[in-house]
Order: sequence, then structure tokens, then C-alpha cells
Amino acid sequence: MNFSFTEEQDRFRLEVRDFLEEEIKKGYWEPACDAWVQGFNPEFTKRVAQRGWIGLTWPREYGGQGRSHIDRLILTEEMLRYGAPAACHWFGDRQVGGAILSFGSEELKKELLPRIVKGEAYFGLGMSEPGTGSDLASLQTRAVEDGDYYVINGQKTWTSCASFSEYFDIYARTDPEAPRHRGISEFIVDAKSRGVSRIPMIDITGTEAWNDVFFDNVRVHKRYLVGEKNRGFYQVLHQLDYERSGMERLMGNYPLFEAIIRFAKENGLSGDLVTRNKLAQLQIEFEVGRLLIYRVALVMEEGRAPNWESSMSKAYCTEFEKRLACVAMEILGPYGQLKWGSKFVPLRGMALHSYLGSKGYSLQAGTTEILKNIVALRRLGLSSS
Ligand SMILES: Cc1cc2nc3c(=O)[nH]c(=O)nc-3n(C[C@H](O)[C@H](O)[C@H](O)COP(=O)(O)OP(=O)(O)OC[C@H]3O[C@@H](n4cnc5c(N)ncnc54)[C@H](O)[C@@H]3O)c2cc1C
Repeated sequence: MNFSFTEEQDRFRLEVRDFLEEEIKKGYWEPACDAWVQGFNPEFTKRVAQRGWIGLTWPREYGGQGRSHIDRLILTEEMLRYGAPAACHWFGDRQVGGAILSFGSEELKKELLPRIVKGEAYFGLGMSEPGTGSDLASLQTRAVEDGDYYVINGQKTWTSCASFSEYFDIYARTDPEAPRHRGISEFIVDAKSRGVSRIPMIDITGTEAWNDVFFDNVRVHKRYLVGEKNRGFYQVLHQLDYERSGMERLMGNYPLFEAIIRFAKENGLSGDLVTRNKLAQLQIEFEVGRLLIYRVALVMEEGRAPNWESSMSKAYCTEFEKRLACVAMEILGPYGQLKWGSKFVPLRGMALHSYLGSKGYSLQAGTTEILKNIVALRRLGLSSS
């Protein structure tokens, strides 16, 4: 067992940090919690792309670098630690590109993967619908064949980053007669297609990062079917394994964690027993969470899809996020309730933002209950039937 990174990996971490420090100095973004999904910044994405850091693990023939999943873990950890605005390229890099690599046709790979790598293609994920969340097999959006095209009708909801997405990776029912999970297919839809419209959903934090997306007789060429027709349900399960590493929840709040420790030190709370205890407890949990996300990366490095490992990690890290936000609010006292924008707000409002926003993150990409179901079934062998 070896708990350390190699010298080369340590050097890569420093390279990423140097890059981020330099970019911050240029003044076009400020570190923030949750910037991975809310920080729309094409300029930043272009610069990351110029470094070759999007699609880092993908094969070179599609524009990737063929690097290890451990390098990718280091890169992601640092991006999140710095609260970098990675939203534009995140979904393409984290999962849509991976889905195209695993299931897409050669034509689709050649068309889209190099564009993702160059930071030119932003994606939204269209799984959930007004009546469909945890039970994804119940989705109602329809795709009907018409010559070389599919005609898509339906509504997606909670689509993250949809307001600036150029494509949607969506799931639609292609065989209404088949058992529910055997009649769903995956498509890439150009957001500019006729019949696509979106309405922003404003969440409890006031953020407009989510949208309802409507598909009204949208014609999608058959080459944008990802994988085999009617295999979409199995593909989305695979994709979700990659979405659920938990990394964003743990490290995405690192700017707040770091700031609240600094706040305690600078405001005479270092000797306060209650504060010490709470922050020490969070540090223990943070380090446990880190080991869980490292295991997810190791599983991927072994060429396996992380399954119960990523469910366990995401379930744990979202709960860490909630506890961190609560502790931060307690330490800040009434000032913690001030909103970003107030001239008296401490820590740029990160505590309140995280306190309000963290609730939703234990729903997104699979609720904590669903993730525990996966751990119970796949890790413990507890079948519910
Ligand atoms: C911040 C945020 C971002 C999101 N981004 C996206 C996105 O980009 N794309 C997208 O497609 N969707 C997105 N979603 C939607 C998200 O995937 C769903 O909210 C989630 O799957 C839960 O579905 P639901 O809200 O319909 O709740 P339901 O599925 O109706 O669940 C309601 C409650 O019942 C529990 N429950 C349901 N089934 C079971 C079961 N079998 N066992 C035990 N408990 C169960 C759940 O845990 C939950 O507590 C996002 C949601 C949020 C909050």
C-alpha cells in the first residue's frame, strides 16, 4: 500500500497550481464555491484547453493526452480547491465525452471529442423530467424515427448549465412497447435546433444555473444517436457512475473550508473549545472523503467503472458539504446570514451560499437514499426483492 503521489504527480500538481495562481492574477475570475457548475467563463475554459487539460485521459487520436486518471484527479482537485470557473467544459470533460468514447460511433467521436478538448463544445445533461427523477426509466420524452432523423418531443428539467449549453445529452423513449428500461436511447442534440427552448429555474440561492428545456418536434440526425438504439438506460447508468465521484462536493467547497479556518484564526477563535472541536471533526471527515474519492480514481485507473465506490463517495461528500456549511454558519453567527453583495457579508457570502445550495446537491446525480440503495445492493449484496 502506498499513500503518496509520485514525484511526477507532485510536479503536475504544482504546475496546475502555478497556472491557476497566474490566471487569478489576471483578474477575470474570482475563486468561488461551486464555480465548477455556476462559473460560466469561456476564456478560462480556452486557457485550460490550451494546456491540453480537457479530456486529459482520452486517447490522443481524439485530441486527448492519454494521461492517467490519477493526473486527472490531481487536476480536478486543484481546479476545485481554487474555486475555478470550470462550468463550460465540465460536463463534456467529465461524462459526455466519456459516454461518446465508450458508446459513440467513430463519426461522432471524430466530430465532437476534439471540439470538447478544444473547449468549444459545452453540454447540458437531460435526464430528469417533471415526473422523472430517481426512477429514470419512467421518462416520457419521445424520439420517433422519420427517415434519417429522429423527431424528439418532451421536457427536461433541472438541466444544469443549460443556459449556455451548445448541446444537450438527452435520453428519450424510442420504443414505448418495450419494458421501460429497454426502450430508451441517448442522443446529442444541438441546442440551436429548431424547436429547442429553455427557461431558467432560479434556485434557493438565486442561481440561474438550471433550466427547464423543451423539445418541440426537434429533428435530430441519426448520427447523433449515442450507442445502440434502446440501450440508453444502460448507458446512463454507466455515465452516472462517472458523475458521482463526490469530488465536486468535497473539493468544490474547499474555498469555504479554508476561509472558515482562516476566519477562526483571525478572529480569536483558535482557543475556543467548541470551534476547535467542530473544525477538527470537519478535518477528519474531509480526509475520509478524500480517501473515498481517491479510491474512485484508482478504480478508473484500473479500467473499471466506479460503481458502489462512487455512490459511497458522493453520498459521504454531500453530507460533509452540509455539515461544513452548518459549522460555517454557526461560527459566523448572524453575519453568516447576510447575502453576497452585502457590504458586511463575511467570506464573500460563501457560507450562506453553501448552506442553501448544499441541500440540492444531495439530490442531484442520485439522491443520498438512492446512492445508499446502490451500496446496499452492490457492496453488501442486500437485494430488495
Ligand atoms: C442542484 C441540482 C442539479 C441537478 N442537475 C441535473 C442535471 O443537470 N440534469 C438532470 O437530468 N437532472 C438534474 N437534477 C435533477 C436530479 O437528478 C433529481 O432531482 C434527482 O434524481 C431526484 O429526483 P426527484 O427530484 O424527482 O426526486 P424523487 O425521485 O421524486 O425522490 C423524492 C424522494 O424520494 C426518495 N426516493 C425515491 N426513490 C427512492 C427509492 N427507490 N428508495 C429510497 N428513497 C427513494 C428520494 O431519495 C427523495 O428523497 C438536478 C437536481 C438538483 C437539485
